[in-house]
Amino acid sequence: MTSAKRLIAGNWKMNGLRAEALALARAVAVAAAGAGEGCAVAVFPPFTALEAVAAVLAGSPVGLGGQDCHEAEAGAHTGSVSAAMLADLGCRYVIVGHSERRHGLGETSGIVCAKAEAAIGAGLVPIVCVGETLEQREAGQAEATVAGQIARSVPDGDGRIVLAYEPVWAIGTGRTASTADIAAMHAGIRARLAERRGDGGAIPILYGGSVKPDNAAEILALANVGGVLVGGASLDAVAFAEIVRAAG
Ligand code: PEP
Repeated sequence: MTSAKRLIAGNWKMNGLRAEALALARAVAVAAAGAGEGCAVAVFPPFTALEAVAAVLAGSPVGLGGQDCHEAEAGAHTGSVSAAMLADLGCRYVIVGHSERRHGLGETSGIVCAKAEAAIGAGLVPIVCVGETLEQREAGQAEATVAGQIARSVPDGDGRIVLAYEPVWAIGTGRTASTADIAAMHAGIRARLAERRGDGGAIPILYGGSVKPDNAAEILALANVGGVLVGGASLDAVAFAEIVRAAG
């Protein structure tokens, strides 16, 4: 993916046994093969399906990613997976700091930053997720919350990263942020990234939160939106293909 390409990323979360994952991966490969030059596609299956999906995607332009990694290289971390293990399976990306881990599992921005650093160290591109809760937005703290998450979750240096703005209240709810709110937040994030890092002007910033075929095109047309992170709709091969088409 060059920085000019819009990344359409499908986060399958904890869904799909291998047979379902393989069928979905085959459909995504077909959709991606017909995608325009300006679009890159990646899927994030559960850990258990990564190896099988990697085999299906071999030779296709679809990137593969893990949904999380541990910050340590190796050791006594029962149930966890290292960034190097993901790279070993053919992953190019890993999601870190998804709200279901920040809020569901209590992961702090410090842990998210360490995971992003581990990912870069293993040759992966971390997709660092940030986003405010509904309470924070209603209290007028959305920008400050996201700025704080960027300050503490984005690693220093010049290792390649992708950022994803995902308002917590829009994830899996069917409620999407307005285009005005997305545009304002992405402009703010761009400014924060430019302050933080020399490559801050070029870091792709994805939007995530109930992206669907009927809202993808208008979101992808916004300034500073470098792609979308799609949860629920990425499990529907037809809907995901429509979102890929919307990216041109
Ligand atoms: C996500 O899981 O990152 C996400 C944005 O989910 P959904 O598209 O279902 O809101």
